[in-house]
Amino acid sequence: MSMDDPEATEPSLEGGYDPDAVETRWQQRWVDEETYAYDGDPGQDPNTTYAIDTPPPTVSGSLHMGHLYGSTLQDFAARFQRMADGDVLFPFGYDDNGIASERLTETELDIRHQDYERREFQERCREVCAEYEAEFTDKMQALGTSIDWSHTYKTIEPRVQRISQLSFLDLYEKGREYRKKAPAIWCPECETAISQVETEDDERHAHFNDIAFEIASDGTDREEFVISTTRPELIPACVSVFVHPDDEENADLIGETARVPIFDHEVPIIEDERVDMEKGSGVVMCCTFGDQNDIEWYQAHDLPLRVAIDETATMTDLAGDYEGLSTEDAREAIVEDLDDDGFLRDRREIVHDVGVHERCDTSVEYRVSKQWYVEILDHKDEYLAAGQEMDWYPEKMFTRYRHWIEGLEWDWLISRQRDSGIPFPVWYCEDCDNAVMAEKDDLPVDPLSDEPPVDSCPECGHDAFEPEEDVFDTWATSSLTPLINAGWDWDADAEAFTMDNPELYPFDLRPQGHDIISFWLFHTIVKCYEHTGEVPFDATMINGHVLDENREKMSKSRGNVVEPDAVLSEYPVDAVRFWAASAAVGDDFPYQEKDLTAGEKLLRKLWNASKLVDTLAPREPDEPETLEAIDRWLLAELDDAVEDLTTHLEDYEFAKARDRLRTFFWNTFCDDYLEIAKTREDEPSTQYALRTAHRTFLELWAPFLPHVTEEIWQAVYAADAADLESIHTREWPTPKGYEADLEAGETAMEVISALRRYKSENQLPLNADLESVSVYGPIEGFEDAIQHVMHVQELSILDDEPEVTTEVASIDLDYSTLGPKFGSKVGEIDAGIDSGEYEIDDDAGVLRVAGEELEDDLFEVAVERSYSGEGEMIETESAVVILQDD
Ligand SMILES: [Zn+2]
Ligand SMILES: [Zn+2]
Repeated sequence: MSMDDPEATEPSLEGGYDPDAVETRWQQRWVDEETYAYDGDPGQDPNTTYAIDTPPPTVSGSLHMGHLYGSTLQDFAARFQRMADGDVLFPFGYDDNGIASERLTETELDIRHQDYERREFQERCREVCAEYEAEFTDKMQALGTSIDWSHTYKTIEPRVQRISQLSFLDLYEKGREYRKKAPAIWCPECETAISQVETEDDERHAHFNDIAFEIASDGTDREEFVISTTRPELIPACVSVFVHPDDEENADLIGETARVPIFDHEVPIIEDERVDMEKGSGVVMCCTFGDQNDIEWYQAHDLPLRVAIDETATMTDLAGDYEGLSTEDAREAIVEDLDDDGFLRDRREIVHDVGVHERCDTSVEYRVSKQWYVEILDHKDEYLAAGQEMDWYPEKMFTRYRHWIEGLEWDWLISRQRDSGIPFPVWYCEDCDNAVMAEKDDLPVDPLSDEPPVDSCPECGHDAFEPEEDVFDTWATSSLTPLINAGWDWDADAEAFTMDNPELYPFDLRPQGHDIISFWLFHTIVKCYEHTGEVPFDATMINGHVLDENREKMSKSRGNVVEPDAVLSEYPVDAVRFWAASAAVGDDFPYQEKDLTAGEKLLRKLWNASKLVDTLAPREPDEPETLEAIDRWLLAELDDAVEDLTTHLEDYEFAKARDRLRTFFWNTFCDDYLEIAKTREDEPSTQYALRTAHRTFLELWAPFLPHVTEEIWQAVYAADAADLESIHTREWPTPKGYEADLEAGETAMEVISALRRYKSENQLPLNADLESVSVYGPIEGFEDAIQHVMHVQELSILDDEPEVTTEVASIDLDYSTLGPKFGSKVGEIDAGIDSGEYEIDDDAGVLRVAGEELEDDLFEVAVERSYSGEGEMIETESAVVILQDD
């Protein structure tokens, strides 16, 4: 900081806490000083380094609450581990290749990728992404997370392209990949094949149409049968009709031939057990392709391929008069014509689930095309076992992983017919279609502009090649993040894969949202397991989603989206972090202003308590020979809190840690102990306890409230402000082994608070003498403390509980049940209670009044305890105090 910069202020406890100035100043300084830089050494054991494989956000817009929440949780873990364990890698990446960034570029520049050469379009993508990334980085830094900004990557950068292509070659050599011409899931909007994980069910309105098919052969007396379909536009693609072998009603159709209405081509009627007899008439048509069943039938029965819908969901020439229409228009036109020609028997509206592309919500189609797949269906058991090997926080999220694997029906389709993305390092022989792979040394390559590594085809000797034009699925690259972060590469001399930082792998933690377990986590396990034979993570922390204040999902259409910018302009980052720690990891939880307000109050409390401690004790007091009971008790309680917090944070139980610390800091330290300390500020024992506790509180709060703790630490304890020794690189506190009877200390605190309250209610000064106080309760060892703090002249401990009489103060009746049950008798019951003519039978749990017996759910008794001896009685949770004062 320069002396002549008027804005630059040194950390200080002067005045009130000013989060706006303090937070910005520290965010900048941490980045400038590389406070969170990972300086591990490659020779280390993976167990000595704590490495986090953070989710690279997709570059498709701005920071949302999910980013804020997720990265804050990761930061809690990173900050705790950095203090507790030393070396932490907390990296950051951008996922800027693939459909998302391509669509962003198209919208942003109002262009279509089809109108550009691949190189040129990719250039546009990179320009658009770079702008978004710069803005995003600023926003991430404004969250004060302890990311190591020197460890960043972009999935489109050459180093990552090389890793991604190496991964492709390695899996190919291991026999885990194949290229096949087969039906694949297709998005007609994005005009590419997509994988199973990219589809989701969406509820749509549709019509069920009952359509008559004539029987063209003469093996049955019937002239027609009816099939029900929501997609009559597929009729031109009909290749057969199916009947279940157990379907007695339609058994006569099997082996016959049907004539397809309007289009008049004839198709066979075949039996197959996959037919759902309960649906419609039990007779179904098979078209190429309407759904997964069609594909299975097509393959199982070797049916012909009739393509009526093209890659943009437009009807082909096979659809005759309907050629050129969209599927929706063709559907309506065909239904109309079916009706005119007398084939339409019924039409009714339904709501059903339709498979859509999760990125664009377009209904998917199935198209035969040549695509690259990673074989995964044969290793389902291995991937399940790999998932089981990891620790899951929370444990219940493993079920989602298991369900995804159990429901897998497709190998992983990794080729995309798009422009922005990492190219396949492959050429094909023009003559025999033999695939020629790039040399590992040459990667990254783009076959559209680079030459294949051979002059002639190794299979047939032909010398012309076709480049593969497709690019990788974006998940094919983002699933390599642990290897990207660890610097995975191919060493040509050693002919082996190496890592620049082997000490990072396997990673300690994979944090991510529950919505991408099937996308990111699953595919990362597949890739890393196949490449390294190891499970890439020791543990995974799955965070929930942020909901609105009414626990509704945030969505643009509902208009209930809370923007991080708006929140951060109103509240300190530390207060937002306090809220982020309020829910158990994995649970969806609401955005609540009251938690932010509570966070703000806590910051003020921490600030003001620090100022008070500064007035009560020297900053570096000597350790006294003996600690007095009350001070030793505080430090023993502190040991206990340190132990609990360490366990909670090791288990990613941030909410438990936060609440434990807040209660101890606010109630025990601020409300009780600090009040006591005010009366004992000259005691070396108290001065020492105050400072020890204060330093430890700052350290314990540091992972949650990094800005305010740094400011106070630097203002009070830092040796030299110019040479930053951040609180965030200090050692995490450990219990010091103070021993005290915690229960007795807590009871003594209750007694002191009760006496303080007594004084204030009776308008006595805090240092007023109290003549005689007797206590029934465990306070052994703290008698002197109570006497000293509350100026009690005579303190005695009672062996027996003071005699207390218990009287019924009131009886509340539940009239909503009483009325209907006792009707006009209610008046008498009331009168009986008012006049005291009733009996409460505790054993039976009933109230007898006015000749009736009321069950215990009909009444509630409030009792009053009163003391009839000398003096005044005050009851606390674990003690009874009798005050005698003249
Ligand atoms: Zn799409
Ligand atoms: Zn060839």
